[in-house]
Amino acid sequence: MTVRTRIAPSPTGFPHVGTAYIALFNLCFAKQHQGEFILRIEDTDQQRSTPESEKMILDSLRWLGIEWSEGPDIGGQHAPYRQSERMGIYKQYALDLVEKGHAFYCFATPEELDQMRAEQQARGETPKYDGRGLALSDEEVQRRLAAGEPHVIRMKVPANGTCQFNDLLRGEVEIPWAQVDMQILLKTDGLPTYHLANVVDDHLMEITHVIRGEEWLPSAPKHQLLYQYFGWDMPTLCHMPLLRNPDKSKLSKRKNPTSINYYKDIGVLPEALLNYLGRMGWSMPDEQEVFTLADMIANFNIERVSLGGPVFDVEKLNWLNSQWIKSLTPTELLQRILNWQNNTQKLEDIAQAIQPRIHLLSEAVQWSTLYFNHKPNLTAEMFEHKKLTPEQVRQSLQFAIWRLEKTFTWNNETVSQILMDLANQMEIKLRDFMPTFFIAIAGSTSATPIMQAMVTIGPDLTYARLRHALDVVGAPSKKEVKVWEKLNESIQLPKNDAIDS
Ligand code: GLU
Repeated sequence: MTVRTRIAPSPTGFPHVGTAYIALFNLCFAKQHQGEFILRIEDTDQQRSTPESEKMILDSLRWLGIEWSEGPDIGGQHAPYRQSERMGIYKQYALDLVEKGHAFYCFATPEELDQMRAEQQARGETPKYDGRGLALSDEEVQRRLAAGEPHVIRMKVPANGTCQFNDLLRGEVEIPWAQVDMQILLKTDGLPTYHLANVVDDHLMEITHVIRGEEWLPSAPKHQLLYQYFGWDMPTLCHMPLLRNPDKSKLSKRKNPTSINYYKDIGVLPEALLNYLGRMGWSMPDEQEVFTLADMIANFNIERVSLGGPVFDVEKLNWLNSQWIKSLTPTELLQRILNWQNNTQKLEDIAQAIQPRIHLLSEAVQWSTLYFNHKPNLTAEMFEHKKLTPEQVRQSLQFAIWRLEKTFTWNNETVSQILMDLANQMEIKLRDFMPTFFIAIAGSTSATPIMQAMVTIGPDLTYARLRHALDVVGAPSKKEVKVWEKLNESIQLPKNDAIDS
């Protein structure tokens, strides 16, 4: 048997370090067994998936040195590798399960299901699909299908007992069936959910080992059941421990930047980031700290993964990066520095921004610092403004982060529109509103136009600097976040007097 592993990212956001971490362990496991590592794009969520996100994920994995032997960009024996291009495949499998009595139609409307959940909650129960579709007679199902009523297909799940499955790292895992929902397999629009498409594709693509994040552990019973229903062998499952913030909470961008692009932007070497990810819950047999991908593959053993939540600590990553930098010759280092910012568009944008300000070329460096450094040195006093309360400063930063994070089109128009709307809705004059952002991004109110600078440095550095500024002036408490979220939304709504008139 040839070992075949895969990474199956959903292209719904920025390339996450967690994706690279899981990809790395899949790659090492496959290579250790002379097997294949493949990449499949899981874009069944068509509303949230974007081609931009897919491109960023592929580019950033490649930048790290993670290579796949089959994938959407290079094809392979099981092409296509993008689920949106495989949509013709899945429906038949769902219908097949209905035919065999393992799945059923459900015609419940979203309102009906909301009411069901509300009633369950009122009774103090955990909301769960109650199997109402199973109560319909064959005749009724046929009649409603013939009438073209909207419906989904759900899988049957045993009411009692316990699901048992084996996990490569955890051994025997038991999950009571009562905790497992009768999962939708095919949605009203005839398209598959993650669970159906994932199982069908892992089978068709001959995946032998599914190595994925711990957050998928609760899905394993559904998947095991689907393999049984289809009569297929299930791949070996292996759920890797989740990456954590230094305070042990689940790695989140609020506490640690999570986009691979951020680490690239601040000048982490790809070898160092990969090395660091390799140390998340795993170590070399001789505990050596600095190692290459080839070293890792040569010494790989999945059983050395420890389940205690690995901590992704930016300070430690920086230290490891410094070790990699020290290992380069000065010539190599120079090459790395030049390659790091070898982006003609970015350099031209900077030239354009500093042009009106410099008298001598020698002044270019000082005006360009903000485009290359990691983050400015900030103190809370720098944000004091005679027209704004500290609360307004904190809110303007937090609201801007929330709003900017929602946009995928990162250009002058979108960024300026978001900031100008925010100033307007907070009823702050733009000239009083902007200094906070100059200081957060450039560390000074005297800098090149800051909205354009945010576009040039890109979303990842922008978020990181705005978050850093917010930390310096005081990030909102959990309680404040709740109130601020509502406030941020309410000020975006048209004013009441407009409705009254
Ligand atoms: N598309 C899923 C994700 O985004 C894949 C989970 C799995 O590996 O089964 O993580």
